Amino acid sequence: MTDLNVGCESPSAAAATGSDDPAKARITEILPGILLLRAELPFALDHVNIYLIAEDDGWAIVDTGVDDARTRAVFAQLLEGPLKGQRFSRLIATHHHPDHIGLAGWLCAEYDLRLFTSLSAYLASLTLRGNPERLGRAFYAAYYRRHGMTAAQAKSLQGWPEHYRELVGTPPPEFTRLLAGDRLKLGHREFEILTGDGHAPEQLMLYCAAEGLLLAGDQVLMRISPNISVDPTGPESDPLGHYLRSLENLRGRVPDGTLVLPGHHKPFRALHARIGELQEQHRQRLETILRACGDSELSVGDLVPVLFSRPLDGFQLGFAFGEAHAHVNRLVHDGRLKRSSSDDGIRYRISPD
Ligand SMILES: [Zn+2]
Repeated sequence: MTDLNVGCESPSAAAATGSDDPAKARITEILPGILLLRAELPFALDHVNIYLIAEDDGWAIVDTGVDDARTRAVFAQLLEGPLKGQRFSRLIATHHHPDHIGLAGWLCAEYDLRLFTSLSAYLASLTLRGNPERLGRAFYAAYYRRHGMTAAQAKSLQGWPEHYRELVGTPPPEFTRLLAGDRLKLGHREFEILTGDGHAPEQLMLYCAAEGLLLAGDQVLMRISPNISVDPTGPESDPLGHYLRSLENLRGRVPDGTLVLPGHHKPFRALHARIGELQEQHRQRLETILRACGDSELSVGDLVPVLFSRPLDGFQLGFAFGEAHAHVNRLVHDGRLKRSSSDDGIRYRISPD
């Protein structure tokens, strides 16, 4: 599929044209047979990168955008315009977050596609979409209150499971599992499946060693730091430890200079330098928490404003709280903080050992 007339434009050229064809304006050709489609998102982070990879029988889609009318229209317009006469061949989702898997159910039904993803991503989207009662308002409120959030703040965050449901359609009834070490042939390219953890369980990355190419999902982003949060279903888990370990594995596995195609913002090559920056940023946050604890016992809620001094709306507060908790748990797991529980909630102090 080399004879492709998609009218690709660089992002700056697309903006300059002021095109009123949304599908055309958002497409960039990264390499022959690899297109980047920038889909809008209804959040502060206002876009997600969707990649299209040429196969013999059509275009494999990597990640979906959220399930809303605007994103559905973008895919429909692609096949009416830039990719007219062509088809989609399959769907690959890197992880279970709404902007990466939200439209999977609709895409698979509409274009008769099979979903390829990790078991963790499939089960997480199935559970959160299909059984939100298990993670209802009372469950979330209890978690936040136990960890020191004010009642008013906790109330503002109780709608999270419902929010996921609004952005993610019912997942397709079948999928093909991808596991670390699997090989996936897309057109003439062979990708090795790598997985990373911490941002999302078992997040998929597609690595083409022959071409020096890594589709990284949200595991490493250039302009923003991937959110690393404790989930209320695993309040004593160590996602930051998992993330830092995954970064080290990635540094050892993927050479510097590899072209990284991330889930947000522009592709980049400085993978190892970026991994170093992310590690340093987390190290500084861990130090900040240790300093703040001093001789006092603090809750996660107490530590949120220590780490994040800017005002936070309800949505940002959820991410900030989860991120603060992830750093606290890293320090508990490596023995630098001690956790104590009372009727009053859960607090942390410097470990005496
Ligand atoms: Zn994500």
